[in-house]
Amino acid sequence: MGVRHISIWPAIVTMLVFSISAARADDGFCPTDPAYPAATRIVHVSTEDGPTYGTMQYSQTASLGPKEVALTFDDGPNPDNTLRILDILDRHCIKATFFMVGYYAGKHPELVREVAARGHVIGTHTWLHPNSLRQLSPVQAQREIRRGFEAVETALASAPTEDRRRLAPFFRFPGLNDSAALIHWLGERHVATFSCEFGADDWKPIGSAEIRRRAIRNIASVGRGILILHDTKPRTADMLSSFIMTMREQGYSFVQLAAEPTSAARAATAPNGILGAAERSVADAQQAVTATEPSLEPDPVLR
Ligand SMILES: [Zn+2]
Repeated sequence: MGVRHISIWPAIVTMLVFSISAARADDGFCPTDPAYPAATRIVHVSTEDGPTYGTMQYSQTASLGPKEVALTFDDGPNPDNTLRILDILDRHCIKATFFMVGYYAGKHPELVREVAARGHVIGTHTWLHPNSLRQLSPVQAQREIRRGFEAVETALASAPTEDRRRLAPFFRFPGLNDSAALIHWLGERHVATFSCEFGADDWKPIGSAEIRRRAIRNIASVGRGILILHDTKPRTADMLSSFIMTMREQGYSFVQLAAEPTSAARAATAPNGILGAAERSVADAQQAVTATEPSLEPDPVLR
């Protein structure tokens, strides 16, 4: 009898734990970080006519509330680091936006699908990450941009529809080195350009504690906005969980940038659109996989 009573307890405890965490999730709390919400607020931005976002370079930005921060990760997917970042974001129930380099998307398509499957939005960041698209001919620069989108599309081709829709008409210039002509070209295709409000210098040879310190300092100086991080950097992953916890303790919350659905649909069907079928060339993208490695140069604007 006694033995039977004792053996019931683990089952009861398990049931209680499950019902508490289920209740918390139902109540909108993050099961693995229960002081905070299970869902990330989505900030829908228009991509119609190719707006530019981020007051570090442009006059307008996404409409974030006070103390709201949108996390963005550039230069991946990275086989050593992207999954670590995804696990940390999951633990804190935060969705983000990833600006991927096409070459790496082509090399690690399973990581592209994983990022999408975990609910993150994907924008692109060219094919080979040339330090400045301004130094290329217009045709070369447009080809770099188009191939970046094609590579992510190809990686997502076998993914469920919901995950394929995670690819947004979002673009970020390598090194934030934009050009008016290319912004106009993107605009004709209803692709939005993203700069930021702040960086954390995580591309510089500084330690994770210093990256964390600079991120917190830079965010505090502006109060809200888009943060650029790099999912290629182990030291960024090292500080990410502690950074998130500190920000939340200070009253900040995290939001996710996503394309406003009707303008995203417009980009997908634009004549000669980057995301439309007219200029899509899978053979081109496949052939390009043999190209040279990207050169991941720092972002001069963030210096
Ligand atoms: Zn970059």
